Amino acid sequence: MENRGRGDLSVAGAASVAANDLSVAIVGGGIGGLSAGLSLYRAGFDVHVYERAAALSEVGAGIQIGPNASRVLHGLGLADDLAEMGVRPLAWHQRRWDDGRTLLRTSLGAVVEIFGFPQYQMHRADLLAALMRGLPGERVHVSHRLVGLTDRGDRVEAEFENGSGVEADVLVGADGIHSSVREILFGPQEARFTGCVAYRGLIPAERLRPLGLEVTAQVWMGPGRHFVHYYVQAQRLVNFVAVVEQDTWTRESWTDKGDVEAALAEFEGWHPQVRGILGAVDDTFIWALFDRAPLERWSVGRVTLLGDACHSMLPFMAQGAAQAIEDGATLTACLSQPGLEVPEALRLYEKLRLPRASKIQGLSAANKIRFHLPDGPEQQERDEQMASGATDWSVKAVAWLYGHDATVIEDTGPPAAGRLGRGAKLHDG
Ligand code: FAD
Repeated sequence: MENRGRGDLSVAGAASVAANDLSVAIVGGGIGGLSAGLSLYRAGFDVHVYERAAALSEVGAGIQIGPNASRVLHGLGLADDLAEMGVRPLAWHQRRWDDGRTLLRTSLGAVVEIFGFPQYQMHRADLLAALMRGLPGERVHVSHRLVGLTDRGDRVEAEFENGSGVEADVLVGADGIHSSVREILFGPQEARFTGCVAYRGLIPAERLRPLGLEVTAQVWMGPGRHFVHYYVQAQRLVNFVAVVEQDTWTRESWTDKGDVEAALAEFEGWHPQVRGILGAVDDTFIWALFDRAPLERWSVGRVTLLGDACHSMLPFMAQGAAQAIEDGATLTACLSQPGLEVPEALRLYEKLRLPRASKIQGLSAANKIRFHLPDGPEQQERDEQMASGATDWSVKAVAWLYGHDATVIEDTGPPAAGRLGRGAKLHDG
C-alpha cells in the first residue's frame, strides 16, 4: 500500500482473507493503533498506520498493564521491554482516605502462576517506544489526519488533510475518543463528561524515599474522590492519578496544566502519604474524564473501529488501553481466519469484542460510585464487605478479565449475516 497524491487512487483487487496478504490502513498511532499495527504486521499483513500528529507521542503519565494485555504484548515480542522498563506490583492496596487503614489488599504474587503473564506498571512513553521499535518506520506515517473515507465494496479509499490518499482492503479507526472514522460510519455522538476530572503527575522516586512507598498499586478511597499511585520506569518514577468529582468542565481544552495548590486543596485532610506525594510534584496536568455509551456496532463493510474510538471508558478498572490491545489481537485472528471475506471477518471481530468491552465500560463506571462513597452507612457496608472475606477478592475471582486470551477465537458459531441490532445475542467475555 502506498501513499499517493489525491486523484491517483488505483484499484486493488479484492483479496482472500486466508492469504494474509490483505492491506490494512490503521488510522491513529496511539497504543491501540500501534499494537494492532504490530500484531497485523507480525501476522504478515501489509499494514500501515496513519497518525495526524507530526510525531508519535504519549502523555507523560503511567499506565497499568493487566495480564490480559501483557499476554498480547509478550506475543508481540515485547516481553524484554516490559521486564526492563515496567514494574511488577506486589499487590493492589485499597486504603481509607484519612487514616490510611487498609480496606483490601489483593496479592498479585501469583498472577504469573495463575494467568501465565505479569501485571505491569509502565510509563506510557516506554510502552509506545517498545511498540514503535517492533514496527518498521516506513509503516508509520505521521502528519496524516484522516478527513474522508469511501468504501468501494472491494476496497476502501482514505483521504488525508495533507492531500494524499491511500487505498486498502481494510480500514481500522483507532483514532481515539473523538474518532473521525466513527463519526463517518455512525454520525456525530457527543462524548459524555463523566463528572470527574483527574490530576496526573510523575515524581522522581528518590524525592519520595522518606515516605517509604511499597511496590504496590495503591488506591485511596474517599468522599467524592480517590487517589491512585504506583511506581513506573523500573521504579525511577512514581505516577499518581488524583480523581475529583466536579459538576462541569468549562475549560476549552480537555487537558490543561493543573495547579498543584488547587490539587492539594482538593485533598485537604487526606492522609499525609497522599498529600506528601501531591506536594512533591513539579507539574501536574488536569484531565476531564469523558466516556461514551457502548455502541451497537463497530463495523460497516470493510471499515471497523478499535480502542477508545469505539469503547472509551472511565479509567477505574485500568482497562481502556488493555482492551484496545486485546482488540488488535482479536482483529488479527479474525482477519487470519480462512474462508472469510473481509466484512464477515470484521463482523466476527465485533461479535467477539463488543460485549466484552461494553461490559468493562459498565464496570468502570460503577467503580466511580464504589470508590467515591461519602462516609456513612453505604461506605461502612462497602468497607465491611471488603474486610469480611465473604467475597473472593483474589485475582482468581476476575479470571474472566485477566485470564482472557484475545488471540484465540472461541467457537461462537458463524458471524451474524446482517447488522447486529440492539439485544442481539452476543458472546459474553
Ligand atoms: P488514543 O490514545 O486516543 O490514540 C488515538 C490516536 O489517533 C492519537 O494519536 C490521535 O492523534 C490519532 N488521531 C485522532 N484523530 C485522527 C485522525 N483523524 N487521523 C489520524 N490520526 C488521528 N488504560 C489501561 O489499560 N490502564 C491504565 O492504567 C489506564 N489508566 C488511565 C488513566 C487515565 C487518567 C486515563 C484518562 C486513561 C487511562 N487508561 C488506562 C485508558 C487509556 O489511556 C486509553 O484507553 C488508551 O490510551 C486509548 O488508546 P487508543 O489508541 O484507542 O486512543
